[in-house]
Amino acid sequence: MLLEVTGLKSAYGRIEALHGIDIQVKEGELVALVGANGAGKTTFLRALSGVQPASAGTIRFDGVDIGRAKPEKRVEMGICQVPEGRQVFGPLAVEDNLRLGAFRRKGKDVEADLEKVYDTFPILKKKRNEAAGTLSGGQQQMLAMGRALMAHPRLLLLDEPSMGLAPLLVGEIFNIVQMLREQGTTILLVEQNAFSALAIADRGYVIETGSIVLTDTGEALLADDKVKAAYLGL
Ligand code: ATP
Repeated sequence: MLLEVTGLKSAYGRIEALHGIDIQVKEGELVALVGANGAGKTTFLRALSGVQPASAGTIRFDGVDIGRAKPEKRVEMGICQVPEGRQVFGPLAVEDNLRLGAFRRKGKDVEADLEKVYDTFPILKKKRNEAAGTLSGGQQQMLAMGRALMAHPRLLLLDEPSMGLAPLLVGEIFNIVQMLREQGTTILLVEQNAFSALAIADRGYVIETGSIVLTDTGEALLADDKVKAAYLGL
């Protein structure tokens, strides 16, 4: 098991936002965490990254308890988050944004990695010298994902990659996520867009007001009547 979260609780002051979350991700898996606005998805990711304190529970990564590790340490261990709203460096060129993703790495394969990212996202190659801030929302999402890949993550955390994108682009982004998984990247995908996320996920978890209420294969969750009624509008 690459990631093993058990009984994770987290609170904002006296208000508990996560009531004991159990989630596991195996090496090579694409796991989706889906739920409505305010269910606790972002809080969970922040607790995983270490920027939001956990009040109970354990987080094991590759067998090591990282529950008390600083965010930098978790990044160093290979947990890499693509934040909601992308947060690319607008005035910097696309390629400089990508190079920043590799800044912690000592190896000198950065050029080869850049080429790999450009193969995955040809539009970024075309726009390599343009300021990141001039890219469209979908292109900025691709840039944020490319920048994360430059860090050679062992676990890629994607926070609502489809947010604010036109439907056509949403499809494109999810195709890319699926492709990354096929290339061997382990991914935890957090989404409000339950249909698209579960359609590509090996396994999924449904979170409601801070608790996991269902878990199964992506396929089984898509076929589940409760999921259909609550999240797929069917
Ligand atoms: P979204 O899709 O909007 O990001 P989410 O599923 O990620 O939603 P969270 O942002 O994790 O949900 O919020 C979970 C709960 O914690 C909500 O009830 C929210 O109001 C509350 N919450 C989130 N951030 C804070 C904060 N900084 N202070 C107090 N309460 C917060």
